[in-house]
Amino acid sequence: LAQLYGPLNQLGYIYRSVNQSLVDTEKLLALLSEPTEVNDKEDASPLVVTNGEIEFDNVYFSYDVRNSALNGVSFKVPKGSSVALVGESGAGKSTILRLLYRFYDLGEGEGRILIDGQDIRDVTQKSLRQAIGVVPQDSVLFNSSIAYNIGYGKFGSTPEEIENAAKSAQMHDRITSFPDGYNTKVGECGVRLSGGEKQRVAIARTLLKNPPILLLDEATSALDTSTEKDIQKALQNLVKGRSSLSIAHRLSTIASADLILVLKDGHIHEQGNFKELMELDGLFASMWADQVSGTDDRPPSVGGSSIK
Ligand code: ATP
Repeated sequence: LAQLYGPLNQLGYIYRSVNQSLVDTEKLLALLSEPTEVNDKEDASPLVVTNGEIEFDNVYFSYDVRNSALNGVSFKVPKGSSVALVGESGAGKSTILRLLYRFYDLGEGEGRILIDGQDIRDVTQKSLRQAIGVVPQDSVLFNSSIAYNIGYGKFGSTPEEIENAAKSAQMHDRITSFPDGYNTKVGECGVRLSGGEKQRVAIARTLLKNPPILLLDEATSALDTSTEKDIQKALQNLVKGRSSLSIAHRLSTIASADLILVLKDGHIHEQGNFKELMELDGLFASMWADQVSGTDDRPPSVGGSSIK
């Protein structure tokens, strides 16, 4: 038995790692169908996160030669601050998140992406992804218990840790309303959770993972007021003290962001906080006015969509 334990343990670890990265990547950047083109350098070292500061330094990127997705994007996310990305569909919001997660590497002359001064092309993907938590629009859960779905955010998490994470993610009361509580099976063979509930499970999982950097893709679908409030509170708890980049669709996220980047045709067209952008009376203000005057009262995330 002792001889088996090592390999089994190792297998369990590999299974967990694969699961972990699948869930982090699943829909999130919904790129599973795309080949990963990124290889670590032979001398790649682990990322050392000191503050979690992110910098895009004159980043250019094209998926194919005919179209450029980003045209010279520069910005910083200082330690613990929140940056919201807004802009029309195709403006480049998802591309920024995909590049930071290293689904693609920048080539020579395409600028640099740095975390705490380290070029992300020079570090191992594993260490990079360990430092980044992702909350996608559409969270996919395993056909397993709620406790499992939350708990694999951190290997070996205790029931108490799982419960605390669920509390911060505003999901605890809902979970305890099920007859089997945390042992309730979710997914195809169990209780079906609403989109907002699945997202809160993903938030709880990410709270347990405790990454210094967060990528968020807010759901575009309208939520009822109490779910909206719960998610808002859960996100506040998650974002606190971490550097975050959000594709923002919620008024609360946009209004409270330290910096809003308004993207247009792959470049930063305007930037500032909500008040500054409204005073500027430019693209953001006009998108805002369109949104508010329309039947759709969602804020000007303005493109819909997800991190594809
Ligand atoms: P949306 O709000 O619709 O998600 P977005 O602002 O996130 O849009 P991106 O997805 O970053 O925009 O797309 C930026 C540009 O890159 C667009 O012109 C888009 O058509 C193109 N693009 C995005 N993904 C790919 C891909 N996998 N292959 C080729 N072109 C792509």
